[in-house]
Amino acid sequence: MKHCARCGLPETYETIEFDAAGICNICRQNEFKRETIDWSGRKAALDALVEQYRGKYPYDCIVPFSGGKDSTYTLWYLMKEYRIKPLVVQFNHGFMRENLQQNNERTFKKLGVEVISFTPNWQVVKRLMLEALVRKGDFCWHCHTGIFAYPMQIAIRFGVPLVFWGEPSSEYTSYYDYRDDQVEEVDEVRFNRYINLGITAEDMAGMISGDFPLDPRDMAPFTYPRSVCLGSYIPWDVKAHVRKIQAELGWQGDQVEGMPWNVYPYEKIECHMQGVRDYIKWLKRGYSRVTQMTALDVRNGTMTSEEQRKLVAEHEGRKPYSLTLLLEYLQLTEEEFNAIVAKTVVSPWKPDFSIVNWAPKPRDTEQWYREKPAVASDEKQRTLKTATER
Ligand SMILES: [Zn+2]
Repeated sequence: MKHCARCGLPETYETIEFDAAGICNICRQNEFKRETIDWSGRKAALDALVEQYRGKYPYDCIVPFSGGKDSTYTLWYLMKEYRIKPLVVQFNHGFMRENLQQNNERTFKKLGVEVISFTPNWQVVKRLMLEALVRKGDFCWHCHTGIFAYPMQIAIRFGVPLVFWGEPSSEYTSYYDYRDDQVEEVDEVRFNRYINLGITAEDMAGMISGDFPLDPRDMAPFTYPRSVCLGSYIPWDVKAHVRKIQAELGWQGDQVEGMPWNVYPYEKIECHMQGVRDYIKWLKRGYSRVTQMTALDVRNGTMTSEEQRKLVAEHEGRKPYSLTLLLEYLQLTEEEFNAIVAKTVVSPWKPDFSIVNWAPKPRDTEQWYREKPAVASDEKQRTLKTATER
């Protein structure tokens, strides 16, 4: 497979393109972020945005919140920088880990925020996971769509027309699948282009307020929420943000399957199914989150390509314990699972389904929800010694 000459991302990476120098578009985007974007101008635009909505609605904004580093930083930043009153909206995907829940409770109490949490029907979720896995090789559809759609519904129900997401998708381009990158913007664009005839509720208020006694709140039901990423306004620096939320909120990282825990204790700690999600990516595309995270560090000059190769070789492509859980939830055998994933493999990658190298088990696996008692393969996994177990 072809790899980016700078960051090492492979040609199977979503949305990747290489230029004549063999450098990928995500590396080029990062250069643009650091060298060309006027961040002080962006910050002034953020100040204006916050003031435009402050005090006019039941809440100043909605913050969709997973409890990971990005949404935690977003919430902390908005509270500290602007002293706003947000409504925090949490979509419970069904795989929240104990450390995450402790982080969330601590963060909510320290910051003093109001929170709405929603949990969808588990029986429906399981069926959606199977359908999305079979059709797209990605069982997380319910989570992506729920995390995006539910906070927007709450924004509309409460009449709060400003929603703050955290990390901009351009930081990775395809942090999830391409569909999610689109969903973030497309609906609002489509709303403004087709649904509202090109007239926003704000425009309309201006048009009729001359001859109509309009209360600004009258237009709330017609207002599509502004839905923006904080990282479009301030430069996104994951390592610095993690240090900040650790110091200010006592935020704790966690062990995520398939990751080098000592190097990345903060990445994707929100979901106990992350390991199998990354494993599917490995089978489909020949890389997983280790390649992705180290690419970011190599790009930013905090890791050498040599160190990257070592971490990737040691950690990628190992079978996670969460695979066992996924098979239980979806009532699939591993052979059936492999056959489904094989249909979604991205050329020229050819996966090796005969891997028997298990990833180390995170400390809290005993608490991860199970559909039925342990099977023999778990026993086998428990006895396997691995190079990275500490
Ligand atoms: Zn690159």
